[in-house]
Amino acid sequence: MSQAQDGAQAQDGARLLIVGPQGSGKGTQGVRIAEVVGVPAISTGDMFRAAISGGTELGEKVKAIIEAGDLVPDAVTSEVVSERLSQDDAAEGFLLDGYPRNLAQVSDLDAFLSGRGEQLDAVIELSVPRGESIDRLTRRAFEQGRTDDTEDVIANRLAIYERETAPILDVYRERGIVDVIDGVGSLDEITERIVAALGARGLIRTAAA
Ligand code: AMP
Repeated sequence: MSQAQDGAQAQDGARLLIVGPQGSGKGTQGVRIAEVVGVPAISTGDMFRAAISGGTELGEKVKAIIEAGDLVPDAVTSEVVSERLSQDDAAEGFLLDGYPRNLAQVSDLDAFLSGRGEQLDAVIELSVPRGESIDRLTRRAFEQGRTDDTEDVIANRLAIYERETAPILDVYRERGIVDVIDGVGSLDEITERIVAALGARGLIRTAAA
């Protein structure tokens, strides 16, 4: 839970990004961490899926792309994210899940944030062995029936992750903001690891000491 603000002049929340291969548990951990830090969790995948099920124009545009496990064009994605980040609840912090996903999107996000005098505070890299992510994705396909969780599409998404998304971590590593977190363990253990890493950066004010 987020702790009560201390009443001091707009103490900033944290601006966070969680990155990991599909099946790493980033969605679940993202929501948990956002709650601890007291910022909105913003998942591009969730926004696209909501647009598809709502039958919106955006949903129509991205449906086939998502079903194939390909990336939605950068211009479309970055526009969706900048609109979302412009909402009031993201003014003092946010946790991004699934964006940026390639180097072009890193540039888009940098441009957007620097226009507001902001930058990312930390990037959580959830590290999970390939076999484990595939097992988890296959299980999720069975449980949730996601249309992009079929075997071929999973393979495509993991290949895209390695080719396009993993390189963004090098950029953030150079900035010294990446925390690599072991993503194998119970949900609570993994959350605790992330909270500890963010705490070490001074990004979480823990009341329960
Ligand atoms: P996710 O739930 O994060 O795995 O996202 C599901 C799907 O949404 C991905 O396989 C892509 O097709 C699309 N998607 C989500 N985020 C992005 C992004 N940042 N750039 C392009 N496509 C995205």
